[in-house]
Amino acid sequence: AMFESLSKRLEGIFNNLSGQGKLTEEDVNAALREVRIALIEADVNLKVARQFVERVKEKAIGADVLGSLSPAQQVLSIVNDELIEVLGGTEGKNKLELSGNPPVIMLVGLQGSGKTTTAAKLGRYLRDKQGMRPLLVAADMYRPAAVNQLKALGKQLQLPVYWEQMGADPVDICVNALEHAREQACNVIILDTAGRLNIDERMMEEVRTIRSRVQPHEVLLVADAMTGQEAVRVAKDFNEAVSLTGMILTKMDGDARGGAALSIRAVTGLPVKFMGVGEKTDALVPFHPDRLASRILGMGDVLSLIEQAQEAIDEEEALKAQEKLKAGKFDLEDFLTAMRQLKRMGPLRSVMEMLPGFNKLLQMPEMEEALESDQLKYVEAMILSMTKEERRNPDIINGSRRKRIAAGSGTKVEELNALLKQFNEMRSVFRQISTGKGPFAQLMRQYGK
Ligand code: GDP
Repeated sequence: AMFESLSKRLEGIFNNLSGQGKLTEEDVNAALREVRIALIEADVNLKVARQFVERVKEKAIGADVLGSLSPAQQVLSIVNDELIEVLGGTEGKNKLELSGNPPVIMLVGLQGSGKTTTAAKLGRYLRDKQGMRPLLVAADMYRPAAVNQLKALGKQLQLPVYWEQMGADPVDICVNALEHAREQACNVIILDTAGRLNIDERMMEEVRTIRSRVQPHEVLLVADAMTGQEAVRVAKDFNEAVSLTGMILTKMDGDARGGAALSIRAVTGLPVKFMGVGEKTDALVPFHPDRLASRILGMGDVLSLIEQAQEAIDEEEALKAQEKLKAGKFDLEDFLTAMRQLKRMGPLRSVMEMLPGFNKLLQMPEMEEALESDQLKYVEAMILSMTKEERRNPDIINGSRRKRIAAGSGTKVEELNALLKQFNEMRSVFRQISTGKGPFAQLMRQYGK
């Protein structure tokens, strides 16, 4: 999963640190050395990793002990800030420039990066989330299948696609597409252009020509996050040769270690605007540095979860759930209702990854199995074997009740224990958020919620 091993490493480092009570400068230095190693093992650019740690160190040493934050929590909070910074900051730089008339978005990238798929995903996104009428333009004439692929995706999504016969000049295609968009009353144009196996001068020349003839408002590099530092190099080269306006990182759902996402901004100075999180055409999401930092630090991504829930669940239910979360009232019944609703939101695994404290639960082999086979049944069976009272007040579930519930659901007591433990951790995070106490609340406040 996204950032999984980095997240585990950092969690270990901070658990260790908070177990020590008062911290000396040496403790902090030792922890930060480990942070640096963890970043480098996640394939973060060496210089970026070094600067990251230096900035944290400076701030940690300069900071006074604030309010009720323990020194370890303070270091955690500084690391969180720096992660947000290195991922691109908070000022909404992930917004697309859509003020053109019509706005033209040009996608460039190496073959296999996911460019053509991303063109279709972006079209779907702009139509479904922004109410626009996109035109997809098949101008990648190097990969023979790319044109047909975009036509097929357009058909599947019911989005118009502009294309010309094989052998047509990509520059002409883009210019003609502008005219076509006007005729079709499309109000945003997505150009799927130049894709090749390697960066070469001909490709760059083509990009420059299209750029000057069409004057796109965005020139976005589509880069494969799985390739780590290679993606960073490609971005740097493209930017130097043709001057990009931003990037889209694909395949963030794979086991990319995070190196590309964590380095590409610092190395190129360009914002990442979207990320691809799956093969399906709805698997494209805006790149939110603050939410990603929260995920990396194992604090979950409650905001994205609520957003996704609002889409899958009717508004009234979503509001109720949100109120309950805010009020810190969250019992196993809500948990079960939520799980059932979450089922409609797509793969349960990706939903659970967004919940604080769930990483550990996901790592249990039994959980793995349950998610692979019949996603929900396992957790559902345990909760359904509880009495109403037990669900409302899980604290009363003692040893003998545990045995009964496990037997009733065909699970083991250890599995039930793990479920309850994770539920408790989650509940305590929600409580902290709602009462405004503790490090999570401190961090949540930075998100303005
Ligand atoms: P292009 O040569 O750059 O146009 O690449 P394609 O659009 O054909 O994509 C190459 C492969 O990557 C295809 O199998 C896509 O399904 C896959 N792909 C693209 N984006 C993502 C993503 O975000 N996640 C995953 N898992 N696969 C992706």
